[in-house]
Amino acid sequence: MKKVTVIVSILLFSILRFQPFVSSSPLLYGNQVYEESSGESRNLNQEHEHAPEVHCSRERSRVASKVIEEYLTPFVEKENYQLSRKCRLHPENDMFRDQEEHRIYLDRNEWRCGYCKKSFREEKFLDQHLDNRHCNLLNLSHGKCLADLCGALHCDAVTNSKSSRSKCNPAAAARNRHLCESLADSCFPISGGLSASRLHELFLHQFCDAHSCSGKHKPFSRGGKGQGSFFRLAAGALILVLLPVFYLFIYLIQCDMNGRTQDLRRISKSGWKAKPS
Ligand SMILES: [Zn+2]
Repeated sequence: MKKVTVIVSILLFSILRFQPFVSSSPLLYGNQVYEESSGESRNLNQEHEHAPEVHCSRERSRVASKVIEEYLTPFVEKENYQLSRKCRLHPENDMFRDQEEHRIYLDRNEWRCGYCKKSFREEKFLDQHLDNRHCNLLNLSHGKCLADLCGALHCDAVTNSKSSRSKCNPAAAARNRHLCESLADSCFPISGGLSASRLHELFLHQFCDAHSCSGKHKPFSRGGKGQGSFFRLAAGALILVLLPVFYLFIYLIQCDMNGRTQDLRRISKSGWKAKPS
């Protein structure tokens, strides 16, 4: 009997002892959102109650937007071309655009909501907060889901979410190609002038040609924003390395020339001295 009492009291003691440790465990903080102004923490589950159902992926829309920004916008800007609002690639046709512009990155462990200034430890908690608290700011009208264009825009190639070994589905490739070509027609109508025609052609090469199972064409064949800056960076580095080598070469040539002129002077002087005798 005494043994049982001892064991029970040890168990009780250990539970009481570890209680504060458990409540301050970082695992619990994982689900909480910090309100920087008041210092309070709020559980995200409370925010979830009034959120409407949105049938559009925020993450995929973000990838599609990045693809457009990286592989299309530089060319559109170069042509000084204005996308029409009818074009689904127009920034206004991304339902998450306004919210995306209100996501503020402060630090590796701090993200802020630009609407209500709440701070979050992780990006995903800020996304959940935007989904739940600021869903009224989303434009849920038809045709505003950029993620729906991911098939045409090769989002999977950017995120590497599909392995290169996965078998090509001809029906899916044809569907994506059709969507891609309809985007080219609506955003860059051939009848819309020289710039529109050039961009139409570019769009087909950049995005649509790769929608086939032949494997002949790769997406983004015309390059993008990042690629240009990479080449500029590589060229800069090459110049930095080659410049000292060039100066060293010039210096060596000059040394060699000086040595030769001194030799010539010596020879001519000795010639002068040798002549009178
Ligand atoms: Zn907010």
